[in-house]
Formats: sequence, C-alpha cells, structure tokens
Amino acid sequence: MKLIFEKSVEGRSCSILPPCDVPAAELPTALARDKAPDLPRLCENDISRHYTQLARRTRGVNGGFYPLGSCTMKYNPKVNEVAAALPGFTDVHPLQPAHTVQGCLEVLALAEQYLCEITGMDAMTFQPAAGAHGEYTGLLLIKAYHEHRGDAARTKIIVPDSAHGTNPASAAMAGFSVVNVPSAPNGCVDLEKLREAVGPDTAGLMLTNPNTVGLFDENILEITRIIHEAGGLNYYDGANLNAVMGVARPGDMGFDVVHLNLHKTFSTPHGGGGPGSGPVGCKELLRPFLPKESVAQGPDGYALEDQPCSVGRVKEFYGNFLVVVKALAYIITLGREGIPQAAKHAVLNANYMMECLKDLYDMAYDARCMHEFVMDLGRLKGETGVSAMDIAKGLLDNGIHPPTMYFPLIVHEALMVEPTETESKETIDEAVEVLRRLYSQAQEDPESLHQAPVTTVVRRLDEVGAARHPKLIFPQ
Ligand SMILES: *Cc1c(COP(=O)(O)O)cnc(C)c1O
Repeated sequence: MKLIFEKSVEGRSCSILPPCDVPAAELPTALARDKAPDLPRLCENDISRHYTQLARRTRGVNGGFYPLGSCTMKYNPKVNEVAAALPGFTDVHPLQPAHTVQGCLEVLALAEQYLCEITGMDAMTFQPAAGAHGEYTGLLLIKAYHEHRGDAARTKIIVPDSAHGTNPASAAMAGFSVVNVPSAPNGCVDLEKLREAVGPDTAGLMLTNPNTVGLFDENILEITRIIHEAGGLNYYDGANLNAVMGVARPGDMGFDVVHLNLHKTFSTPHGGGGPGSGPVGCKELLRPFLPKESVAQGPDGYALEDQPCSVGRVKEFYGNFLVVVKALAYIITLGREGIPQAAKHAVLNANYMMECLKDLYDMAYDARCMHEFVMDLGRLKGETGVSAMDIAKGLLDNGIHPPTMYFPLIVHEALMVEPTETESKETIDEAVEVLRRLYSQAQEDPESLHQAPVTTVVRRLDEVGAARHPKLIFPQ
C-alpha cells in the first residue's frame, strides 16, 4: 500500500474545511513559513479510500474478539459517542463564564457524585488525562498531605511487584523512592514482607487491584490496615474497575485515594492513543489538596472553586471533558443494577474462559480470577518449542487479536487474557476452540506456528529492529 504522500498529485485538492467564520488575522512575518507545507494533494475519494484501506488493515474491537489483558478492549456503546458529540458539549469554550455552561458543569458534578458513590470516595478531579497521569496526581495529594502535616520523613511509596508498571514509574516521578514488595506464591501481596517494609518513612502504598495477574488480593483489609497503622495512606489503582464496580468499593477497603480509567471501564475505547481520562477520587482528608478548579454547587447554580491547599493544575481546565460525558451517559444507562451486572459479567466471562482452557494450558495461578487470567506457556515451550509469542501469532491467523504477551513480568511465557464483559458466550467458545486447536498444532506441527502469522498483511515483524531503528520520516 502506498503512503498518502506517494498518492499525491500536483494540483489536486478538495475543500472540506468549513468557511472561516472569524475575522482573518495577519500572522506576524516572524512566525510565517518560508514555503508552503508539503501536504499531500488528493481529492476527497482518494482520502476516503486511503483511510478505509488503512482501517481494514488494523484489528479493532469492531472487527473481532480482542482479549488484550489489562487493556479492557471492550465494545463501547455508540450511543455514548452521540451524546458526547452534542453541540452543547462540543461548541463551548473553557473560558466561558460559568453561568453560560451550567449543563457542562452539571455533567462534571453528576459524574463526580456517581463515581464517588461507585468508589466510596468523597471528592474527585477530572483533570488527569490518563491512568498514569491520575496516579501521579493522586501521589501529589499524598505528598501534599504529609508535607502539610510537617511530616517530611515520609518519602517512600510501597509498590507490590504485582502492580501495573506505571505505579512505580509514577511514584518516582512524584519524587518518592519506591520500595518493592514481592508477591506470595498465591499471587497476592506477601504480608510478612509488607510488615517488614513499612516504617516512619512510609508515605503510602499503591495497590493495583485486581492485580496484574487478575487476582483480587484476599488480604486487602489487612494490607490497608498495616499501611494506616504505619502512618501511610493507601492508593488504589482502579484502572480495571470493570471487575469490581458496583460490587465492592475501594473506599470501604481502607483506601484514601483512587484513580479510574474512564478509557477502559467507562465507555471510551482504550488503546487508540487518546483522548483518555484518569479521574482521581479521594477521601475528605485529601480534598483540600485537589487540583485547581473543582465544580461546586453555589446559590446561583454550579460554579468553579479552588481548594485551599491545591497542588495546582495537572492539566489545563477540566481534563478531557467529552470523555466524562461518555462516562456519565454510560453510568446513567446502566444504572444501579447494570453497573454491578457488567462487573459480574467481566468476572464470569474470564472465569468461564479459564475453566474451558485449563485442562490443556497451565494457568499461572490456580484461583478464581477477576476480569482477566494469566496462562503460563512455559511447559508447552519446553515440550514443543512453541512459545507464547508463537501462540499469539497463531491467534492472528484465526482472526483473533492476541492477549497481552510476556506481561506481567513475574510469569515467564505469559499470555494474559481479558475477554471483557461485552463478549457473548458464542464468541468466547469460538476463541476457546481456536486456542485448543493451536495447542494440538503445537504438538503436531510446531514449525507451522513458528511461521505464523501467514494470513495477515505483514508477517512476523522484527520488533526489536522496529524499536531500535524506527523509520520515522518519509522519504527515508
Ligand atoms: C491501563 C492501566 C494503567 C495506566 O493507564 P494509562 O491510561 O495507560 O496511563 C494503570 N494501571 C492499570 C492497572 C492499568 O490497567
């Protein structure tokens, strides 16, 4: 397939830009270009065909099963996109006076109220644009809390090794040093090691729950108690809330601050490169430190206010507002009954799929999983030479997007499968059959799997080469 620049024909064009509806302004000459930008020259159907061709070459949720663990590649109702495209939401300016955007502020206030109800928190900010950005923001709150109390010694954040990779990175970015705590053989936090790790320098703990091996930590109340007794605060990485929403609340489990990934759980697709939203909810004790500009109900309707000891802004204005519109539409559509039902389906689908496979494939942990499970292909590789990578590539030949591979790092030859709550039994049954067939293929004809994929647009890629020597400009 040619690049769009190679399709360009001098003199060709199309006018798809709307007419200018503001007074034309002269650019200062210092800012003007020397020559016009080298944009491709194409007519409308060239452009339409180009992008349609590109879209057909990618694998997405609308094309088929996409069980990418830790990513929640579920189907998101299109109606929520319609809600977010309403002109009352799209044609506003963030600097408009509050009395002219009461509807938008009500969206933020209602989303805050519902998501606080779902998480058991007291207040929330929508500024962070992603999960990791939320982690960073939540950690700033913890830092500000200790500093405000004059307790400068609390410089360490405890992060279990089953945490999402962003957790230690965010803690380091927020200026903490990271203390790693290993997991016990059952995949949950090792309590003895945790007790040894806490002390007067403990600022807090970050717990990914369900953790990266798909397990709900069975000692969660004990974990948060240990941290609180040591004087630290508890951070809940709630990116994967689709496993627990409406069923259990971080706020009831002893957590002081939590982030959510609206672009996983709450109806914005994940993995498209944005926009995302990683709101941070907190208990009353952290409210004074929330980022600037929260929505409050005043005598004349909704208004914006700053918290007294705010950590400042972590993003301009209110974050990615339209993502919040979609989340609110989703919550209202599902309601009090639908939210826990979606969570239960996420857990049921994962456990069903795991049970259908575990006589052939080894599971990393022999336990009831939450929304995802981890297969350990170490034995299969030893017996046949077929690796997790080979099985993943074999799935591509069968029209299925691979699960997350070689993550979490604590399981070698890992395939981490998240069917999500929006898949039917038929789809899961088909995927199970494909995986079972690939297992036989690995025994009978391992070479064929080393060759996979053979039906895709490109064959097996040199991933290291692509990372080390990326071709980022055209022409090379
Ligand atoms: C996805 C994810 C994150 C990071 O979210 P981003 O929006 O990609 O920054 C953090 N924690 C967990 C558990 C996740 O699954």
